[in-house]
Amino acid sequence: MPVNRAPSAAATPMMQQYIEIKVLYPDSLLFYRMGDFYELFFDDAETASRALGITLTKRGKHDGADIPMCGVPVHAADTYLQKLIVLGHRVAVCEQTEDPAEAKKRGSKAVVRRKVVRLVTPGTITEEKLLDPTSSNFLMAIAKVRRNEDQKPVGLSWIDISTGAYFVSACSQQHLAAAIASVEPREIVLSETLYQDEDFRSALINMDDRSITLEAPSFFDSQMAEERLKAAFQVSMLDGLGAFSISEVSAAGAVLAYVEKTQIGERPALQRPVRKTDDRTLFIDAATRSNLELMHTLSGERKGSLFHAINKTVSGPGARLLAEMMTAPLCDVSEIIDRQDGIAFFLEHRSLAQDIHACLKQVPDMARSVSRLSLNRGGPRDLTAINTGLAMAQMIATRLSDVPQLPKTLQDCLDHILALPSQLGLMLDKMLAEEVPVLARDGGFIRSGYHAELDELRALRDKSRQVIASMQTKYAQETGVKSLKIKHNNMLGYFIEVTAQNSDALTNEAGKAIYIHRQTMANAMRFTTTELADLESKIANAAGQAITIELSLFETMVGEIISSSKFVASAANALSRLDVFCSLATLAESWNYCRPKIDDSLAFEIEEARHAVIEQVLFRDHKPGFVANSCDLGGEAAGKIWLLTGPNMGGKSTFLRQNALIIILAQMGSYVPAKSAHIGLVDRLFSRVGAADDLARGRSTFMVEMVETATILNLAGKRSFVILDEIGRGTATFDGLSIAWAAIENLHEVNQCRTLFATHYHELTSLADPLDRLSNVTMKVKEWEGEVVFLHEVLQGSADRSYGIQVAKLAGLPPAVVARAREVLEQLESTERTGNPKALIDDLPLFSVTPKQPEKPAAQEGELISSLEAIMPDELTPREALDVLYALRSKVLGKD
Ligand code: ATP
Repeated sequence: MPVNRAPSAAATPMMQQYIEIKVLYPDSLLFYRMGDFYELFFDDAETASRALGITLTKRGKHDGADIPMCGVPVHAADTYLQKLIVLGHRVAVCEQTEDPAEAKKRGSKAVVRRKVVRLVTPGTITEEKLLDPTSSNFLMAIAKVRRNEDQKPVGLSWIDISTGAYFVSACSQQHLAAAIASVEPREIVLSETLYQDEDFRSALINMDDRSITLEAPSFFDSQMAEERLKAAFQVSMLDGLGAFSISEVSAAGAVLAYVEKTQIGERPALQRPVRKTDDRTLFIDAATRSNLELMHTLSGERKGSLFHAINKTVSGPGARLLAEMMTAPLCDVSEIIDRQDGIAFFLEHRSLAQDIHACLKQVPDMARSVSRLSLNRGGPRDLTAINTGLAMAQMIATRLSDVPQLPKTLQDCLDHILALPSQLGLMLDKMLAEEVPVLARDGGFIRSGYHAELDELRALRDKSRQVIASMQTKYAQETGVKSLKIKHNNMLGYFIEVTAQNSDALTNEAGKAIYIHRQTMANAMRFTTTELADLESKIANAAGQAITIELSLFETMVGEIISSSKFVASAANALSRLDVFCSLATLAESWNYCRPKIDDSLAFEIEEARHAVIEQVLFRDHKPGFVANSCDLGGEAAGKIWLLTGPNMGGKSTFLRQNALIIILAQMGSYVPAKSAHIGLVDRLFSRVGAADDLARGRSTFMVEMVETATILNLAGKRSFVILDEIGRGTATFDGLSIAWAAIENLHEVNQCRTLFATHYHELTSLADPLDRLSNVTMKVKEWEGEVVFLHEVLQGSADRSYGIQVAKLAGLPPAVVARAREVLEQLESTERTGNPKALIDDLPLFSVTPKQPEKPAAQEGELISSLEAIMPDELTPREALDVLYALRSKVLGKD
């Protein structure tokens, strides 16, 4: 049933209102507020009931047909929203904007006014339940200025509205995919026309279609963008924010416009846009990022990624900052050294680091709370979060202030914490109760004793009986009528009752001044007092008034926080940095990392290095330890190439990747898994590893391989670092060999970058003669009776074989296939020697499913039989039986 319908004459007033609102949001599911529920109708109801697994019902008729309906309770809406967003839906939240009683005043059939207050999209969520505490949630806008002759015509700008972080940068079309991959946005906004451009679209290939939002080109108009930015940050000239290019301004304005469009009138507390220039960070293209499994493994999981292995942070914001640092390693020696100093300090002061980490564990996500509050979506728990954060920040500052000399970067963190306005914490401390509710409208979050009137109202509301009783005692004492009672009925409300005989005390001249006559009964008289009447109306309104006061105090606190949001944000950032430094110190200590020497040379000397992820996995699985390997690719004027040959499964890829990961770790400022390391700054890191089809982009395995190789050969310079794992494998042997050959020559002569090149083309090793900066290295293996044992050691020299058949056997290839492969290999090798390939087919007997029995040396067989005969099973203890089993196994397989 179409939802985009015009209100029909037959529609009820409410349904007419629904349809009028829905037509404005055709691409979103409309959450239409009805009392305690958000209801969905028509197609939206069918989609949501399927997606959420909730019952589809119907409500009335439209054009003669039942109207499908389903609903979610308001108090559980976050959970449902989360599911819908994960599934790629967008939701327009439509609230009642007036009290139903107000609507009734306009007539019994009047519909409560409603309006959409917010669009929920993947890139604009702020709720704690919907967000991953350890990941940023970036919304990105991309703009391209066509008339721009600039080298970087593409502007990118991204905002995390859950924290207020705001960035802007520019890049060339060629680097767009890399720029997007480095941010990992949840949603991208771009113009419809740009999306038509195929080249442009190819850079978005890793984005889910549902995370791409198209807007009209006018949305990206640079002049409008400029005005919008100036208004948002209250500056008269844009230069006050930074020197942005036109494309950057367009993108920054568009992302802001989209925030305004989705937040409908509410504006998060955004920080000023920070310009990210790519010359300050290590360039890592999109393929390299995913190949090196920085944030996720190739199968999309966090576990197994570099981030997962190095993340020892204890707070969500800390984890987010660590991810930001890891995905954008630096290209500035002094900045890197500053970060190393921060880690070194916490390595030297372990107990201080532990204390700080213990405090940080209790620091809530202040930035996200500030953002929710600024969007009018926060509650008392956000206030408590900020208060706790401020208190912890103060404790940490006190500890750090005791240190006579802090490294520069930690001093900077301390300064930002100390800049927090102290009255903010004091005010929150004074005002907030120990336990607070989720929603402000539930009240009870203001500390008792803070506001006299509120306390009185609460006392009235909660203890009206006691208040009445104490008033009764007071009146009895004042009048001397011991039997005076305060009673209540629906007609009079509260009243004072005395017997007729005792009424004098209330009706005499003095009494009249206080007691007001209400009713005379047969035996009793009833009175009230101004005080009692006041109390009465106070009791009636107490609960409502208490909430009103609390809400206004809530607004006061929110106002104070928003006006200090800049300080809170930078203190929160300082706490995150401390978390990261403590975390990297813990990592370095736990896994014995070293502080790398970083400079502007072209050095790359790594001694006894390990793979940051695999060494942890081997340890966790109680496997033999990781074998450390050294690497030296440095040169005075140009980098060296190491050509790595060796068996399959020998550890070549691991060696290549571990060195690339060490560069990332070193340049993000971390210590590295090695005994020592000296690295001359790397400006670009490239990898070509693994092979995968990219069918979505219409590229075969070989094509992907060649595109990646082309990127490297075109872009790598002297300061780059390249790892190439088997190029030319996806095509015919000689074609592949020739491509690999030419690529190595190019890397040596033209790119001159530090390179690790793993290959099974053993022919390439002869390139070491003509190419003076190329060395052959190989992975050491041990052979034992036709089996291969991997020692994972990198040695100078080259391998002459790949042991592919042995590895295939280990992998469980059927014995007949293994035996046949051996025969073919033998023939191939001898054919190569005799130079007569035609003889190959003739000499080979046909494939037989019955494998030839592997020939076992007769001597070994005899030895085995006598060993077996010597065993007396009944006389063995279980332990001895196990030993015998091990001895046999090692005899047959050569395994311990
Ligand atoms: P192929 O040529 O088949 O791609 P490869 O030579 O690239 O193989 P890797 O994939 O690097 O081999 O390594 C195979 C496995 O060996 C790894 O998964 C890892 O568990 C183990 N390994 C590699 N290097 C080491 C090492 N230095 N110490 C301990 N184990 C290692």
